[in-house]
Amino acid sequence: MEQLALAIFASLLSAGAWLWVLRRFDRIEPEPLGLLLRTGLVGGLVSALVAGFLNDRLFSWLGITFDAPVLPWVSALVPALFAGLNEESCKLMATLWLTHRQPEVDEPIDPMIYAMSVALGFAAFENILYMIHYGPGVIVLRSLLTVPGHLTFAALWGYGLARARFGSGPGRYRLLIVTVFLGGIAHAAYDFFLFPRTWIALFVIPLLAGLVWLANRRLTFLVGQTPHLEAGECPDCFAPNLPDTSHCRQCGSSLAQHIYTLCPHCNAKVLPGSLNCHRCKGELARVFDHPFS
Ligand SMILES: [Zn+2]
Ligand SMILES: [Zn+2]
Repeated sequence: MEQLALAIFASLLSAGAWLWVLRRFDRIEPEPLGLLLRTGLVGGLVSALVAGFLNDRLFSWLGITFDAPVLPWVSALVPALFAGLNEESCKLMATLWLTHRQPEVDEPIDPMIYAMSVALGFAAFENILYMIHYGPGVIVLRSLLTVPGHLTFAALWGYGLARARFGSGPGRYRLLIVTVFLGGIAHAAYDFFLFPRTWIALFVIPLLAGLVWLANRRLTFLVGQTPHLEAGECPDCFAPNLPDTSHCRQCGSSLAQHIYTLCPHCNAKVLPGSLNCHRCKGELARVFDHPFS
């Protein structure tokens, strides 16, 4: 009982630290903390249970047990691919289920923040199971490697989800499918490097470094694509600039808008495809295919 309490405490502490890092990106219109925690915990638990059940079915069908000291490389490939694609798809389904009608999702970064919170919840439940099985010491390495792994796999399709929700044209759904597949492959590569328990595990370091770099880039990009700042208002230093300025005159940050277009009457940010401006009610030329979608 004491071990379970310690496992739950350590795992929530580790997830909480990463949630604090994630929330630093969601600074323009922060999501309510209670909603974020609820989405992460419920989405993480449900997706971890469903994905774990499906993983178990496949692994027992293939006769794989992870207590064997070494898995041969080739037989690690199928379980890694299945676990990666399965776990990322389950997390996406849970995120869609919990956020598709959520009115708080009102700027492009939000779907990515919720996706990564579900991944954090998923990793937290996995950490509890690992600590019960292998002892509390595994939390250190898992907090430094596995949790950022789960966060950055979800960042790949979380970005796809953001573009699908706030984009226009059929290409946005294609992007979501491609990014879920990429998230699954990245996750599979991570598992594949670790399953055989040999020196090949060192490859997770460059893999994670690349994924963290990409997630940081995607989040930084989406911070600036928000309707909660005026056109030309800098997302980093909040200096006002002319509406069509490309870079902030005070800090040099990019002000380019790739998701919203500007209302020709009042410079409000409007989604392509809108018939009327939400602010001045002026008529907008209908654009179905946004050049960047
Ligand atoms: Zn600035
Ligand atoms: Zn307007």
